[in-house]
Amino acid sequence: MSISVAIIGAGPAGFYAAEALLDRHADVQIDIIERLATPFGLIRAGVAPDHQSTKLVARRFEETALQDVVHFYGNVDVGNAVTLEELRACYDAVVLAVGAGVDRPLGIPGEHLRGIYGSALFVGWYNGHPDFRDLRPNLATPAAVIIGNGNVALDIARMLVKTEAEMASSDLSDHAAEAICAGGIRDVYIVGRRGAADAKFTTAELRELGELEDCDVVLNAAELTVPPEITDNRDRRLREKNLAILRGIRRSEAGKTRRLHFRFNLAPATIDGHERVDGVIFERTRTEGGQVLGTAAFERIPCGLVVTAIGYRTSPLDGVPFDSKRGLYPSAEGRIETGLYVVGWAKRGPVGVIGSNRPDGALCADQIIADAKASERESAKPGRAGLEGYLALRDVRSVTFDDWQKIDAAEVAGARKSAPRRKFTTLSEMLSVLGESSLERAAAARHETGR
Ligand code: NAP
Repeated sequence: MSISVAIIGAGPAGFYAAEALLDRHADVQIDIIERLATPFGLIRAGVAPDHQSTKLVARRFEETALQDVVHFYGNVDVGNAVTLEELRACYDAVVLAVGAGVDRPLGIPGEHLRGIYGSALFVGWYNGHPDFRDLRPNLATPAAVIIGNGNVALDIARMLVKTEAEMASSDLSDHAAEAICAGGIRDVYIVGRRGAADAKFTTAELRELGELEDCDVVLNAAELTVPPEITDNRDRRLREKNLAILRGIRRSEAGKTRRLHFRFNLAPATIDGHERVDGVIFERTRTEGGQVLGTAAFERIPCGLVVTAIGYRTSPLDGVPFDSKRGLYPSAEGRIETGLYVVGWAKRGPVGVIGSNRPDGALCADQIIADAKASERESAKPGRAGLEGYLALRDVRSVTFDDWQKIDAAEVAGARKSAPRRKFTTLSEMLSVLGESSLERAAAARHETGR
């Protein structure tokens, strides 16, 4: 039985779903449809530029993309170039692998001031995501505050405190490298609303901070304890492991230019400033039974830049039920309904590492195959031919995987010294690699900005 599948989103969740389908079913046709011209989602636009080894998983996804039955359609915006309804009419199964690309708001006064960015924007900016390349955050300030105690907060902090030499073998975008270098940030505060023992940082990511070349790590040793209310021995040991690392990376050496401050038990209350942020007022907190409670004592940290790293939401999509509280598409283990499935952060919310998407892909593939078998007849849906019909009708210049490989090769060839690549950050630059005229590039870019 032949099954046609459209996967919307070319990030890890989408590729793991494709891989699982290929592993399980011989007669499958898979089209991976991506809004950007480039594949690999967060591998390219989310994973920190100095974590190149994490990005190696893209090679595995490349093998999937190169299978005869798999086609990549980059630069195809679902909802604009083709609707979800049209895709569902064309394919036996449509998989939403669209991630969670919208920042959760803090919901406090002053959040509208200039100089405050969510991590989706800020990370997208330094990673050269075309949507955020023109963000131009103000880095001409002595102090930055990062709100949140997860790995994204650590990624952002490293970008702000590492030296040019430390970033030389990264793929940090040129515009970000220049702006960070020219900016005057000396003090970076990572602020958590809970205590150090409750932080969501992972061990390896904390350890890296012990190797910073030109940055002290400032911590209050008295705060690095596991609260007595945590009684489970295993839980205590796990928390203690991170605290031991924090104690070990605490440093104060003469002559360092920058400082990375860890501050705990501070919940953001108000962002202060006139038009532009000039400080954050935090309320001191304590935790009780897992709850964060205010103490009515406040502290202000002066800063000219605030980045919130407090999690993400998925965008609602026409025709798909949406849980607005959790910011995701509710499903029964990935099945929204027969013919429509969801994987990754759009299904689970923004938690877990790249590999966490693998079981989602497997589950999704099993459901697609089971649903196709249950229908007990060969599908009459046009699959790929249907999609191509719509793209031709609407004059959409989609980017193939072969195109991407040329763009990729040009990025690698353009890299400076030890950098792995020099990223293109506009569709026009990418299309020029493919030899397209300025007129064609302008037409494609008009389409891009029309989104
Ligand atoms: P995260 O790990 O869920 O951390 C979010 C942080 O934001 C938590 O400290 C949370 O505090 C805090 N927060 C939430 N709402 C807040 C509010 N209103 N005010 C103040 N603080 C608030 O999320 P993430 O850092 O965005 O990471 C997302 C996922 O990607 C995680 O699973 C992470 O491990 C993964 N990731 C991994 C890597 C890596 O492996 N190198 C790198 C980046 C991301 P509470 O605990 O109090 O809710």
